[in-house]
Amino acid sequence: MSGLILALVLIAVLWALAYFAAPLWLWTVAAGLSLLANGWLQHSEQSAGWVVFLVIAIALNARPLRRLLITDHLLVWFRKVLPPISETERIAIDAGNTWWDADLFTGRPDWNKLLATPAAALTDEEQAFLDGPVEEFCKSLDDWQITHELNDLPPAAWEQIRKHRFFGMIIPKQYGGLGFSALAHSTVVMKIGTRSTSAAVTVMVPNSLGPGELLMHYGTDEQKQHYLPRLARAEEIPCFALTGPYVGSDAGALPDIGIVCKGAYQGKETLGFRVTWDKRYITLAPIATLLGVAFKAYDPDHLLGQKEDLGITLALIPTDLPGVEIGPRHNPLNSAFMNGPTRGKDVFIPFECLIGGTQYIGKGWMMLMNCLSVGRAISLPALGTGAGKHASRVTGAYARVRKQFRVPIGKFEGVEEALARIAGTTYRMEAARRLTAGALDRGEKPSVLSAILKFHCTEGMRQVLGDAMDVHGGRGVMMGPRNYLARGYQAVPVSITVEGANILTRSMIIFGQGAIRAHPYLLKEMEAAGSDDHARAAVDFDRALVAHVGFTISNAARSLFLGLSGALIAAAPGAGRTRRYYRQLTRMSSAFTFMADVGLLTLGGEMKRKEKLSARYGDILSHLYMASAMLKQFEDQGRPEADLPLLEWACQDSLFVMQQQIEGILRNFPSRPMAWLMRLVVLPLGRPYAPPSDRLGHEVADLLLTPSDARDRLTRHAFTSTDPRDPVGRMEHALKQTLAAEPVEEKLQAGLKKRLTPANYLKLVDDGAAKKVITAQEAALLRDTHAVARDAIDVDEFKTMKGA
Ligand SMILES: Cc1cc2nc3c(=O)[nH]c(=O)nc-3n(C[C@H](O)[C@H](O)[C@H](O)COP(=O)(O)OP(=O)(O)OC[C@H]3O[C@@H](n4cnc5c(N)ncnc54)[C@H](O)[C@@H]3O)c2cc1C
Repeated sequence: MSGLILALVLIAVLWALAYFAAPLWLWTVAAGLSLLANGWLQHSEQSAGWVVFLVIAIALNARPLRRLLITDHLLVWFRKVLPPISETERIAIDAGNTWWDADLFTGRPDWNKLLATPAAALTDEEQAFLDGPVEEFCKSLDDWQITHELNDLPPAAWEQIRKHRFFGMIIPKQYGGLGFSALAHSTVVMKIGTRSTSAAVTVMVPNSLGPGELLMHYGTDEQKQHYLPRLARAEEIPCFALTGPYVGSDAGALPDIGIVCKGAYQGKETLGFRVTWDKRYITLAPIATLLGVAFKAYDPDHLLGQKEDLGITLALIPTDLPGVEIGPRHNPLNSAFMNGPTRGKDVFIPFECLIGGTQYIGKGWMMLMNCLSVGRAISLPALGTGAGKHASRVTGAYARVRKQFRVPIGKFEGVEEALARIAGTTYRMEAARRLTAGALDRGEKPSVLSAILKFHCTEGMRQVLGDAMDVHGGRGVMMGPRNYLARGYQAVPVSITVEGANILTRSMIIFGQGAIRAHPYLLKEMEAAGSDDHARAAVDFDRALVAHVGFTISNAARSLFLGLSGALIAAAPGAGRTRRYYRQLTRMSSAFTFMADVGLLTLGGEMKRKEKLSARYGDILSHLYMASAMLKQFEDQGRPEADLPLLEWACQDSLFVMQQQIEGILRNFPSRPMAWLMRLVVLPLGRPYAPPSDRLGHEVADLLLTPSDARDRLTRHAFTSTDPRDPVGRMEHALKQTLAAEPVEEKLQAGLKKRLTPANYLKLVDDGAAKKVITAQEAALLRDTHAVARDAIDVDEFKTMKGA
């Protein structure tokens, strides 16, 4: 009996040590004490046990011995299995930093720390810019005119861009730019995107990865003084050219070259590069005056030194330089932003055209990766979130105005399902957008989170616009000035492809980079394995490995315990229904981290080729981040009760996706014993999560069908209008009118004891007015509503398809 009690106490102690990640010495003390207790109970000296204990304890705790016997050998093995990391991969890994992603990779995220970070907020000046110039700009845009008639923004829009310095949002005020925060920059792009994707992309590109940003970070003082004010005023139109026919996602492999040579520039002989490039898909290239070009630099004549292969280098080339070819346009899915190829053959550029001057020769990849780690979190996530807000607003309104069998289509369960997905996905995108923009504004450069944002907000865009089109039926399909959806829908693959194509981002970048950057020990181990200082490396590796083993054991214990207890004992801030989600996310964080360690240990470098597994791991990390963002958003907004359905729908959906991806990893993991072990630890009682219920989906869908604070909060910063002549305003106006008319329609039907149908509507209104069932004013309201609702569901008709 006492033996059994001792065994139970021992298990409890071991579990507690593992759960709280006790240091090695504490494990040793606990093992010694349990041996002592066992000897006392058994009335035996346990000599053999003590010998074994002392040998193991000394071997593990005395570092020189531990290294000699264990970790130095593991370091040799690790060096062998570690996949070779190319220079371009190394630079991509080093770019940016980690933030909340690193906390999620601990298995025990500190929720209070997240909630204590200040809520992202616009300054008064930024808000005024949104309410003033951005609102005016949006109002003036006619997307059909832009995409169909002009294939360009109208001159007045270009004028507004110049006047209000839309191209200078990220340029500091000292250079004449707007000096906006990341949140403001993102919100401006988002709002314009809800009006016209073509206009949004036009504004977005000079503010994202390109000459402006590169000059701010790496430009010489002279370059900054010269170019930044001109870029802010759009006197220079910039573009940045990396992609070509033989280089896309594998951007580091670019074939464009520059040879160091002497040449003539502005009448003088000077050193520079003879550059040859062939680039395509370059946004703003057809009208650019300042062309950023990435090329591989070579110095075969040793004009600069011994090295011949100098590496990727970035230059800013005035497009009026002889030999620069710009002008032709591509047609990116009928979007009208300028996009086209650029070529140059043996164009001589002096060193003063290099971004940052000669000290940055060969550092182009590092410069690009560092800028991308920030920029990728802003522009495309803003576009995706804007699409969600726009779709939420117009689809909710349409689903309320459009009736079938006298019932608004939004009340049918099938349509409800699509509406709930639109609203829930939008809530998730907005939370992630705001949280990440806030982090950027505090100086973080979270490269993994930026990849998460890029992927999930553009996939979210694909989801919401697809659903919105389905709900609109033919009204979404028929193109023309009335259609406020189709051009955005058409442009989805543009967002999916640029700034890191999505398949690659999901299957290689998010977990591939996340595991290395955000994991607390992996990078330290890799750095030690790659170091030439073998003595230092052995010490560092030993330290990191011991901590890593303890970390993995701890996460295994935590996953199992949280799984068995339904995570009820996990610490959770706040009160009420949201606490459950903090707990479940803590559980998923432990499970994810444990599974990541098992995956990395079992597959090692092979993980890089297991893209399907890597993608699933990436999805779990992504949903952990986005669900954290949603909880934070809910708190930051003062826990609005009306938003609870949105929060719960999106959190439950995220948990369910995580569970599906865990299941996918377990089913496909190459080592079956390891898969069984993981299943036992992370899903000890089976699958805990279900998708959001139909009832919850109904509540969420309902939020889109009626004007409310929750609907306004969800769609904040989407362009809207109540002007019945405006494509969006027409629908919003019809929604308000429909809702105002409904009680009168009820009264009329009850009074006449007849059902209103589209065919008898106007006749019954006349009858009702004649028989005084409704007042003349009410009759006028119904007649007007009938016309307004018809106008809202109407599509464009063209006499000839030439005009279409
Ligand atoms: C409208 C538009 C605007 C653009 N603007 C610019 C610009 O201003 N400047 C600029 O330099 N470039 C620009 N681009 C180029 C853009 O960045 C590239 O299109 C992108 O990098 C993908 O390259 P690719 O089109 O050659 O596709 P590919 O690289 O051929 O990729 C094709 C598919 O294969 C997938 N894939 C590739 N490698 C892997 C892998 N290892 N694992 C898994 N999947 C993989 C990709 O995800 C993608 O789905 C623009 C592109 C478009 C469409």
